[in-house]
Amino acid sequence: MDAATFELTPTLDAEIDRAAALLLGARSVVALTGAGLSVESGIPPFRGPGGLWTKYGEPPLDGYQRFLRDPAKAWRERLHPTESWARGLTDTLGRAKPNPGHQALVALEEIGVLHALITQNVDDLHRQAGSKTLLEIHGNYALLRCLGCHSRFEPAAIPVDEDALPPLCSSCGGVIKGDTVQFGEPIPPDVLRDCYAAVERCDCMLVIGTTATVYPAAEFPFEVLRRRGQVIEVNPYESELTSAATLSLAGPGGAVLPRLVHHVKRRNAGDRP
Ligand SMILES: [Zn+2]
Repeated sequence: MDAATFELTPTLDAEIDRAAALLLGARSVVALTGAGLSVESGIPPFRGPGGLWTKYGEPPLDGYQRFLRDPAKAWRERLHPTESWARGLTDTLGRAKPNPGHQALVALEEIGVLHALITQNVDDLHRQAGSKTLLEIHGNYALLRCLGCHSRFEPAAIPVDEDALPPLCSSCGGVIKGDTVQFGEPIPPDVLRDCYAAVERCDCMLVIGTTATVYPAAEFPFEVLRRRGQVIEVNPYESELTSAATLSLAGPGGAVLPRLVHHVKRRNAGDRP
């Protein structure tokens, strides 16, 4: 189900309005997004029928250890990809554009009701849409990161000399790698710390397009519920979270979130439903 084929029923619209009231009544709202939101931008999920790994083959499960063993070789492969999974991923991500769901999250941030956005997606679409308080827990495929001081860089900021790989950080001398968290790689401690801090403050979490199964992000909504906060799920499919959530909005983010923005703005203007 995508935003184009989705039909907004009066029942769902009333639930979206209830979600708007929950957001406006909360002290600290955090959004958590996953692959479902990217699917609506034309990025297939990794696994399952039509999945990226199903089509192009799986990346190595020890990708990070391979990088550490020979960063120069990993960089040569990055600059001249030969593996089909790497080429397929780069082509697919390069073509994708933010959808109305990404844009609605920017609108919620600008209105002042969304205080942090945690994403498991590496596709850069939240950044392209214009989200500011963004925590990319699995990194961003379009950025580079220093393994020493965790600084992120636009690729243009890091001169790459193919005769002197890997590039090194100009401030700490650490090895630079792609920001995407590879298989076998720990989540960068700075983003993990910021996620935990955001979740600890959060009393209302908006969970969009994620099956809530990948640790540690899967824990975040349950942590909010344990502290008696509210969790609003936006997902066309049932997930492990559906039965536990305060409110579950069964629809694609690209359709539900713009409607949520509409109701937040209307309530802010003092209109009745
Ligand atoms: Zn550094």
